[in-house]
Amino acid sequence: MSNAIFEVPVAINEPVLSYAPGSSEKIALKEALAEAKANQVDIPMYIGGEKIFTNKKVKMRPPHELKHILGTYSKGNKKHFKAACEAALAAKPEWENTPWQDRAAIFLKAADLLTGPYRAKMNAATMLAQSKNAYQAEIDAVCEFADFLRFNVQYMTDIYMQQPESVSGVWNRLEYRPLEGFIFALSPFNFTSIAGNLSSCPALLGNTIVWKASETQIYSAAVIMEIFEEAGLPAGVINLIHGSGREIGDVIFGHQEFAGLHFTGSTGVFRTLWKNIANNLDNYKSYPRIVGETGGKDYVFAHPSADPEQVAVALSRGAFEYQGQKCSAASRAYIPRSMSRVVLSRLKRDLKSFKMGSPEDFSNFINAVIDEKSFDNITSYLKSVARSKTAKIEIGGNYDKSEGYFIEPTVVVVKDPNHVLMCDELFGPVLTIYVYADKDVDKTLDVLDASSHYALTGAIFAKDRYVINKLADRLRNTAGNFYINDKPTGAVVGQQPFGGGRASGTNDKAGSVLNLYRWISPRTIKENFNAPRDYGYPFLEEA
Ligand code: NAD
Repeated sequence: MSNAIFEVPVAINEPVLSYAPGSSEKIALKEALAEAKANQVDIPMYIGGEKIFTNKKVKMRPPHELKHILGTYSKGNKKHFKAACEAALAAKPEWENTPWQDRAAIFLKAADLLTGPYRAKMNAATMLAQSKNAYQAEIDAVCEFADFLRFNVQYMTDIYMQQPESVSGVWNRLEYRPLEGFIFALSPFNFTSIAGNLSSCPALLGNTIVWKASETQIYSAAVIMEIFEEAGLPAGVINLIHGSGREIGDVIFGHQEFAGLHFTGSTGVFRTLWKNIANNLDNYKSYPRIVGETGGKDYVFAHPSADPEQVAVALSRGAFEYQGQKCSAASRAYIPRSMSRVVLSRLKRDLKSFKMGSPEDFSNFINAVIDEKSFDNITSYLKSVARSKTAKIEIGGNYDKSEGYFIEPTVVVVKDPNHVLMCDELFGPVLTIYVYADKDVDKTLDVLDASSHYALTGAIFAKDRYVINKLADRLRNTAGNFYINDKPTGAVVGQQPFGGGRASGTNDKAGSVLNLYRWISPRTIKENFNAPRDYGYPFLEEA
């Protein structure tokens, strides 16, 4: 029996490996890629520890190489989705009563498996199925995911150690129960780490989970499940199902024991889900927790005092890495006329040097966008620019989906700061720039604030400290992650807790202790060591 108060290992950000020529990690990754290409997989659903295969098989293909088949996954129906809810509920009593250090050990072990024997396999899966280059896969699928797993363990113990005051004769305690019921984790395509975190973070705290991954991330989601199983996660704690989002939503949100939604994805889908939950409110045992990190229209604002080279590099990295499919990617920029020529010519030089193609060729900086729906959506905006009198494609603008969903990194310059490209989230390699008159800083800040309903990330570039303070103040509510003289992407767990306000989400800050608070329901316990034997108080006596 454990009778000590344990301390957990201090969480440290996983170092990002370089994948330089000849490095052992590059050799291992190339081997893992070749193995994945040579062997098709047949991915099941995971319900109550059982691997469930159905005869509804869906093919998975790399977005950059449509003729290749990576394998299939089994699509489920409502019967499977109900079974997943029941499996989560059946696993709950034993899991929530498992000592916290055992839950922690499972996820710490998962982090070590991920950064050790599974590193190459996880990176290869993310590169092939989500079209990420080796570096983007490494920072996401391995380093960020391992950071989530390790830092969350530390945050959990930080919470558990918070205890109330006690007075003489009384011991007050706080117990951090998981939520009653099960949690629904619903994850997006673009970050393997987010998919792993949405399911594992509430599980660490004693909750049990039904998890639906994005169709285009199922290939790497299966590797996550493999790691969790090898780390010793008991059956039914995390149940992974595949199928129509709408059908799954109907089953989950119609269940009396639905206790919380841990979502990352688009704003439109989140709003639909929230309404669905609200419509079912009378049926639930408890008020469900709703956590959603959603879309963005992330900005870079350059003040006339900024360094134009720094602005240009922030844009070429911040707007185009992973084809602009990071929720934090810069997609609108406000550049003063005095530096627009330098910024645009530097951007042009950078973008012309980007190579585009398969992530299997490590010299490609840019790969494909995720699927045909996304390709068609982004290119429909580019077609509208070609017809527009107020917008012009300055760099790039070509696209082709014959072999894969390739869109050239593109820069559009608009004359109207309220142009649709300055407001809508395109989620692709398209940066829109509005060039403002240097004297119109204040007017431009007003437009920046009002023209988009998102508030996820934003960056300002300026030299003068008074100016920096003024911009930071004026733009306080335009971004949940705000950068001064840096690109708006690349948040690191434990360093820049991530999430936005307004239409960008509930701002529950993944990668920080704040997120963990949403998955617990504290119970206050007061224990009296000397309970009174007489109801009377002294004031009742007159003399
Ligand atoms: P999405 O909203 O299309 O899908 C998210 C998940 O919801 C997927 O698993 C999808 O299958 C499912 N889904 C879709 N419609 C559904 C429905 N009606 N009912 C139930 N489930 C449904 O998002 P995506 O395209 O996978 O990801 C890109 C989006 O995610 C972008 O908008 C991006 O900004 C956002 N994102 C935000 C953050 C953040 O931290 N704020 C991080 C990553 C991605």
